[in-house]
Amino acid sequence: MSKAFFVDTTRCTACRGCQVACKEWKGLKPGMTKQTGTHQNPPDLNAVTPKLVRFSEHMIDGKVEWFFFPDQCRHCVAPPCLDVADIYVEGAVIQDEKTNAVLYTDKIRQLTKEQFEEMREACPYNIPRRDDETGEVMKCDMCHDRVVNGLLPMCVKTCPTGTMNFGEAEDMMELATKRLAEVKKKWPKASLIDYRDVNVIYLVVEEQEKYGVFVADRSPVGLNPKLGLA
Ligand code: SF4
Ligand code: SF4
Ligand code: SF4
Repeated sequence: MSKAFFVDTTRCTACRGCQVACKEWKGLKPGMTKQTGTHQNPPDLNAVTPKLVRFSEHMIDGKVEWFFFPDQCRHCVAPPCLDVADIYVEGAVIQDEKTNAVLYTDKIRQLTKEQFEEMREACPYNIPRRDDETGEVMKCDMCHDRVVNGLLPMCVKTCPTGTMNFGEAEDMMELATKRLAEVKKKWPKASLIDYRDVNVIYLVVEEQEKYGVFVADRSPVGLNPKLGLA
């Protein structure tokens, strides 16, 4: 039952259905936002927005190109957030061996603001967010409640374009590898981001920097044994 996502950004239309469905399933309230000159809304992940569709605009060969990136926790194979949280509150972050989901437990609220900041800084993708008033910490939990009951994560179920895929880790890697080969014919720079280290595999056609995502400065932690890739 080892699970993974495959996110094919070449199919994303930035409809934001996944972002809204995520909030709805989790019963998250609206958050304050502001116009920053882009359609990205809110401007960043926050304590009530664990999934954010990022919009980036670039001029390439004299043409305006849009890049869309449905950002979320990558459910790392060896999660640095878990390592840091364990220093202060053991069991605040756990990894479900069956699904690969990295989960924050109720104990996460025991982390102080400074300890949380240390944990956030350890995340290679700058994902966790905290509401300083309530101490609530937020990130994607793989819709663990749905997945253990045989349902798809809400963002996957909602996505109308085939961008969001979810299933057995081996099947997702096979799908990603096949799609990469197709996409490379048109976009030779296409790649699968950090696929050895994560269980949310993104296919992008340009450098990650162009997508407005936080770019991990990490050396690979090694082969993901569950994906069985060289
Ligand atoms: Fe933890 Fe960040 Fe990895 Fe998610 S992406 S498991 S928050 S280290
Ligand atoms: Fe949100 Fe669930 Fe998708 Fe995670 S898996 S981004 S919690 S809808
Ligand atoms: Fe992109 Fe699918 Fe999310 Fe729409 S629902 S923004 S197509 S990933």
